[in-house]
Amino acid sequence: EGAKGTPGSRWLQFEPGMLSRHTRLVEMDHDLERALDQGQFHVVYQPQVDLEDGRIVSLEALLRWHHPQRGWIPPDVFIPRAEANGTIIAIGDFVLNAACRQAQHWRQAGLGGLAVAVNLSTVQLYQADLVDRVRAALEASGLPATALELELTETGLMEDMGTACQVLAQLRAMGVGLSVDDFGTGHSSLAYLRRFPVNCLKLDKRFVGDLEAGGDAEVIAGAVLALAQSLGLTCVAEGVETRAQADWLRARGCRQAQGYLYARPQSAEACERLLAAGILPAKEALPES
Ligand code: C2E
Ligand code: MG
Ligand code: MG
Ligand code: MG
Repeated sequence: EGAKGTPGSRWLQFEPGMLSRHTRLVEMDHDLERALDQGQFHVVYQPQVDLEDGRIVSLEALLRWHHPQRGWIPPDVFIPRAEANGTIIAIGDFVLNAACRQAQHWRQAGLGGLAVAVNLSTVQLYQADLVDRVRAALEASGLPATALELELTETGLMEDMGTACQVLAQLRAMGVGLSVDDFGTGHSSLAYLRRFPVNCLKLDKRFVGDLEAGGDAEVIAGAVLALAQSLGLTCVAEGVETRAQADWLRARGCRQAQGYLYARPQSAEACERLLAAGILPAKEALPES
């Protein structure tokens, strides 16, 4: 649409900016193909704490890409691209294996009966050998299946509910934990949610961040917590940055939280020091000046 006149005239509508954007994407595809082999991906971890006592119960693995020329590229930028060009399969496998190995290392070092959470792309969810790949990562690392949590998105689950249910059931049967990430932002209804054998809802950080704004975030966050409780699911609040948010959530029965108030995503080595210290005290960031 929008192409007035002859088909060829569409080229005239190409702005230099668009062309360079296209070139950048082609370049990113090319760079993503080799980034894994060249060791440019790093996994950082962010603790999830028990809201009552600050104990670290789990750590979420978050992927970072250090591009040799462009520096650090955030996952929100490169994951969609890796999903589009298929490199997410190998990259996702890398994160899964790295996270399982790391968690098992921590457990064996006596740092607690920790779990590790890994984000799963929708592309991975619908890949025929996903269950085998998860089993292989568990076997290679020695991590018990019950110490692994996979995070899925609502929209991903809704894409093909029948297949998703089958895959999730197999993973649950192995003992793997299943969380719905960014909960509240997708389109799942109560009826749909009950069909999926998940055991955790991660309340999206936009609702947590808006809790003090006095809008409908409180209503939504409260509804998600009530929903989790009535379905017997754990609720983890994401993006907790202030004590007031933590207090609000705790008062409404939320048991776990993740956010800058407790710890930022950081290297495995830095996390190891946090784990050795035991509990994470809530530390509110100083207001930016
Ligand atoms: P997510 O899974 O919802 O991860 C939580 C995001 O919130 C992370 O962003 C984390 O750094 C950020 N965060 C944590 N605490 C706070 C806080 O207190 N305040 C604020 N403002 N943000 C906080 P990150 O690491 O940039 O990751 C963004 C998204 O990229 C993730 O969202 C996830 O959807 C995706 N992602 C990251 N790693 C992977 C991966 O290995 N595989 C896949 N498929 N997706 C990944
Ligand atoms: Mg996540
Ligand atoms: Mg999230
Ligand atoms: Mg997200």
